[in-house]
Amino acid sequence: MPEGDTVWNTARVLHRALAGARLTGSDFRVPQLATTDLTGWTVRESASRGKHLLLRLAAPDEAQWTLHSHLRMDGAWRAYAPGERWSGRPAHLIRVVLRSPGAVAVGYHLHELALVPTVEEERLVGHLGPDLLGPDWDAAEAVRRLTAHPEQTIGEALLDQRNLAGVGNLYKCEVLFLRGVSPWTPVGAVPDLPGMAALAQRLLAANRGRWTQSTTGSLHRGQTSYVYGRRAQPCRRCGTAIRKQELGERVTYWCPVCQPEHAQPG
Ligand SMILES: [Zn+2]
Repeated sequence: MPEGDTVWNTARVLHRALAGARLTGSDFRVPQLATTDLTGWTVRESASRGKHLLLRLAAPDEAQWTLHSHLRMDGAWRAYAPGERWSGRPAHLIRVVLRSPGAVAVGYHLHELALVPTVEEERLVGHLGPDLLGPDWDAAEAVRRLTAHPEQTIGEALLDQRNLAGVGNLYKCEVLFLRGVSPWTPVGAVPDLPGMAALAQRLLAANRGRWTQSTTGSLHRGQTSYVYGRRAQPCRRCGTAIRKQELGERVTYWCPVCQPEHAQPG
């Protein structure tokens, strides 16, 4: 599942494949960019901000532009060597192809694909809270934003990218389990929010540089999470069956014993 760490990894793959290269061709397969041609443009760098990808480019007139994309639940970028078979996804999911002398980058099922002047990047990502994997990660600011809505459930607050950028459903469930907090707890009643933000940051950071996401320390299939994706399986701590239920727009997984809460729904 693309969360902040996956997007960070993807940005690194694109950076290694394309940074410094002059594009020899581009092929956009989305209506809003169908006539855009980046041939002759130079890729400056690739960066992530929360779950957003920012590919920064210089046009032949040296104007600086950013190609923005979002992976949401199902998007991906892959980099291939020239002539290598594209093995990533079915061809009908391709939204953009960027060719350089040394690599071909293919974006599958990308969302919010947009080309904007780099100075206007903030229009696309300025609403985001502190980036858990950003060089400017600011834990105090993340806590300040979380506590601004004390009545909101912590399960929903952790997913709100305006509070802190990069946590998706997997890390949300896992952080709450590790802190022993029910997802339905109001933010204002959560003990030690700074500790929770710090743990989220550590969990994402630990998964940089690899594609298997683990919060348990194990990379073995079926052992990479405490509660996420483990409905009805025994809790790794207490043996109680893990539960799964909708919370807001997403499902959440939790252990009713390790994460007690007085107002927990039936
Ligand atoms: Zn338990």
